Amino acid sequence: MTSVVARFAPSPTGLLHIGHAWSAILSHDRAKGAGGRFLLRIEDIDGTRSRSDYIDAIERDLAWLGLDWDGPVLLQSERLDLYGEAIERLKAMGLLYPCFCTRAEIAASLSAPHGDAGPLYPGTCRHIADSERARRTAGEEHAWRLDLARALDMLDPAAEEMPDQARHDGPLIWHDELAGDVVARPEMHGDVILARKDAPASYHLAVTIDDAAQGVTHVVRGGDLFAATHVHRLLQALLGLPTPIYRHHVLLADDSGARLAKRNKAPTLQAMRGAGIDGRALADDLRAGRLPIGFRTSEA
Ligand code: GLU
Repeated sequence: MTSVVARFAPSPTGLLHIGHAWSAILSHDRAKGAGGRFLLRIEDIDGTRSRSDYIDAIERDLAWLGLDWDGPVLLQSERLDLYGEAIERLKAMGLLYPCFCTRAEIAASLSAPHGDAGPLYPGTCRHIADSERARRTAGEEHAWRLDLARALDMLDPAAEEMPDQARHDGPLIWHDELAGDVVARPEMHGDVILARKDAPASYHLAVTIDDAAQGVTHVVRGGDLFAATHVHRLLQALLGLPTPIYRHHVLLADDSGARLAKRNKAPTLQAMRGAGIDGRALADDLRAGRLPIGFRTSEA
């Protein structure tokens, strides 16, 4: 039996709060409870929002909680070439198109349809003629979007030209330890961005590549990312990567039921450390389901 490899993969765009502690503990314990490995990956592809002092704080917070990670810390900012190679592969498969739209243009597009996961990209740049596309790609800032309809055609079990690495039978499925078998429905996300205007990768691409590259067998993360897994499962199929087992856990919320977020002033772990709170005791309380006053669990 392969041993369990789990990971904690925070974005260093702010200080961690107790909801992150909860997630890190669940992932750490999933691995260590099975005699496996627990990895730390810093998701810092967003060069404008990521900060090295937040990375330092993350490492201190985990140590304070009594969570040790195995091996070196992986920084996504050092792996941009790898993501770029995957983008080139997907381009060569004819599955990406450049998108020149600004956020404001997309928001203003009144006819934008909504999927279960929010507004869908209306497909404006999918319809640009080849000659115009080549000219604009050379001169204008652009992102790269997945042509979902083409991707799904390519993965249709009846398709003749399915690339070897994508070969599979039946629908794309992933297993979630809490939700059971889930059929991937990437349609709910439409044509997602895989390379951003300001970074050679998006969250979806980098996370999928790195979970495979690090040999992660169990992805333990918050239920707020359940929907994203529909895209990750599709990318695994297109790139010929293994599918880990998932465990999307309930989130922590404040008294009013509002989800904790970096922006809504949830107390940070750094502040709790500074106040002399015992992190290991806090971790044990969370493990036992004893949440500090003012917090409760919430379905995503
Ligand atoms: N970096 C993501 C975040 O901080 C988490 C990624 C993941 O667990 O897949 O929200």
